[in-house]
Amino acid sequence: MKIGIYPGSFDPITLGHLDIIMRASGLVDKLIIGVLKNNTKKPLFTADERVELIKRVIKDKPNTDHITVESFDGLLVDFAKQRDAQIIVRGLRAVTDFEYELQIAQTNHKINTMIDTVFFTTSVEFSYLSSSVVKEIAAFGGDIKQFVPESIIQSVYDKFNSIRSV
Ligand code: ADP
Repeated sequence: MKIGIYPGSFDPITLGHLDIIMRASGLVDKLIIGVLKNNTKKPLFTADERVELIKRVIKDKPNTDHITVESFDGLLVDFAKQRDAQIIVRGLRAVTDFEYELQIAQTNHKINTMIDTVFFTTSVEFSYLSSSVVKEIAAFGGDIKQFVPESIIQSVYDKFNSIRSV
């Protein structure tokens, strides 16, 4: 059984992430979306919230019964080993992603030679898209419907409103 892990911050999930999820899920028997807990960047959403948002998005999509979502902390290779995953899925948007991703992929393979990283090149329409861009636009009340799945739009605005009212 081919088990893949797609790790990331997903703060929040974007249409770029969803595109990678759907494409990668067709190549494995099981895809685990791993939401990173111990983030050095201070995330907007808690890990549990990010997991819930992804689950909500996946629920609306066909052929996703073999996709699960969970948070993790510690080393990615350890999490992959615990879950019997052989494949780590990552996305590449631009040359700027490449150097960092190559280093991480090579390091992970060195730590555990049973695990390989598979890269998906971004679909052209999402090549500019990141969670940071979404947060910047939403923070100023801008329209994010081209950037995130419909079912989470309100949650992103609500989050900014709740921060403002503290
Ligand atoms: P990180 O894991 O670096 O904190 P993210 O959670 O934003 O970052 O992204 C998780 C993975 O998804 C990374 O491999 C990233 O390159 C990829 N990714 C993010 N946005 C896109 C996009 N628009 N198109 C393709 N891949 C993307």
